[in-house]
Amino acid sequence: MKKLILLILAFTVLGCFKTSKNKFEKQSFGIVIHGGAGTILKKNMTKEKEKEYRQALSKAIRIGYDVLKNGGSSKDAVEKTINYMEDSPLFNAGKGGVLTSEGTIELDASFMDGKTLNAGAVSGVKKVKNPISAAIKVMEESPHVMLSGQGADIFSQIHNLEIVDQDYFITERRINGLKRVQNAEKLKGVYKTQNDRSFLENQRYGTVGCVTLDKYGNLAAGTSTGGMTNKKWNRVGDAPIIGAGTYANNLTCAISATGWGEFFIRAVVAHDISAIMEYKGLSIQKAAYEVIHNKVGALGGNGGIIGIDNNGNIAMEMNTSGMYRAHMNQEGKLDVKIYKDE
Ligand code: ASP
Repeated sequence: MKKLILLILAFTVLGCFKTSKNKFEKQSFGIVIHGGAGTILKKNMTKEKEKEYRQALSKAIRIGYDVLKNGGSSKDAVEKTINYMEDSPLFNAGKGGVLTSEGTIELDASFMDGKTLNAGAVSGVKKVKNPISAAIKVMEESPHVMLSGQGADIFSQIHNLEIVDQDYFITERRINGLKRVQNAEKLKGVYKTQNDRSFLENQRYGTVGCVTLDKYGNLAAGTSTGGMTNKKWNRVGDAPIIGAGTYANNLTCAISATGWGEFFIRAVVAHDISAIMEYKGLSIQKAAYEVIHNKVGALGGNGGIIGIDNNGNIAMEMNTSGMYRAHMNQEGKLDVKIYKDE
């Protein structure tokens, strides 16, 4: 009898191992990134610029892919990938972020962990070199979810994140971009209401984002941006708002948004996609389509999202003419796209 019990016990234990091993093997991992959505038209793009963007997207996504492939966490993959994009002057985040009406830099970023639903965000930072790392530190090293302005920079410094001068961030391209928008403002006047599309519509959108599913089935999302060119009065967009620009939940998906932030806040985009999946059982593609076209679009806003669900299915949805974006699946198949109709 004793022998029989021991035998049953041994089989049960072995069975458990087998199930968990199989479960582990079934998990696919994946990564999706964006480098901003907006009026991106082939006719306005030179071959060299296009190549530069495609190369930067490929390089960035491989960083996160390698982290995931080697068994690293979704969080590390998001942070390292976004750090690279923040350091690249091509994208509207970190170095090369767009300028405020005063010609300064105010950066926003947020991060969310799909397993714990922990989140962190910073807005209006001017000194910390990598705002996404500051957002993660807020999540891990403070009792808060969001810090803003000077306090967020001081917090970053206390936590040994790299601090730089404003000059580090400012590029000639963004100085020219600010002049262009300010000249347009002189001609067309200052926008006064949330639905005044007079010139805001033609401002280029930027922002970078990354969503990941790691080998352990954990999702994460991060977004980092300089916001909108010529922004005033410490304007804050959707990027640092959990639920609007960024959301992750292991039950559903991880989402990062880019576009006209005011509309993305009002439509609570990232959380709405997750909620539609959770409550209605829609796929990530259908939920993303619904929110971008029938909610953001219906309000008059534009932009796009990237997303990945807990099975590795992805969405890259936009109602703009383009969005810099890339995807790598478990097998390492790379897909880089810029224009909507690619
Ligand atoms: N969503 C960002 C903001 O409104 C801008 C962008 O994605 O280009 O601040």
